[in-house]
Amino acid sequence: MSIALQLRELLRSGIHRIGELEIQTDVYGYPYVICHHEDAERSTDSAFGGLEVHEGPADARDLSTYAPDGSYRFAKGQTNLKQGWVMALENEEDLRLALDQFYPAGVGLFLASRAGALETETLREKLDRQTGMYRFARTISDAGAQRLVREVCGPAHQCAKKILWRIAPETPLEDSEASRYNGIPGGLAESQAIPLLCREACNHFVAECRKAAKAENDARSEAT
Ligand code: SF4
Repeated sequence: MSIALQLRELLRSGIHRIGELEIQTDVYGYPYVICHHEDAERSTDSAFGGLEVHEGPADARDLSTYAPDGSYRFAKGQTNLKQGWVMALENEEDLRLALDQFYPAGVGLFLASRAGALETETLREKLDRQTGMYRFARTISDAGAQRLVREVCGPAHQCAKKILWRIAPETPLEDSEASRYNGIPGGLAESQAIPLLCREACNHFVAECRKAAKAENDARSEAT
């Protein structure tokens, strides 16, 4: 079954949220309408509550690129999606296209995970693949990497994703708010939302590893 049709089944089963997006069905003649979940109530008022209306998925890229203050959203999993708009969609395929712009592969990763077919990559594998200036990131200690998870990931640091990766095969993440997070912003029940999944450390995390590895190296040099 296509991802679009599986998405339709998920919605029929009671799921209505992914990340910060609320997904509504049958609103003013449109099979699907998405908006920021904080605008969900307003969007069902007449004329979509005065929210800016976008027909079709084409504007999803622009809407997901900048935060409310105009700054660039460097990761799509950031919890700073802007409000004030609705997107009206004609069918499941348009819905899938739109969701893929807001949360690239988010639905597909969830479906793969549910089917037990989602592969993850450890942080060590990810760092070992780095080239150029990022090669140095691989020298970060396990303790440094564990600390970075607490300082970079999770909703306290504007990331809405559930971490699936480990530091290394035998080294799971230490318990923390970030490592425990379920990928569902807003505290919704797991039966009502598609969680956002992090199957490998993102580029932002790798960049932070490089900085931390350099700081560890400098500290070692000063101590000798
Ligand atoms: S590595 Fe951390 S900050 Fe980056 S996407 Fe994954 S959970 Fe978010």
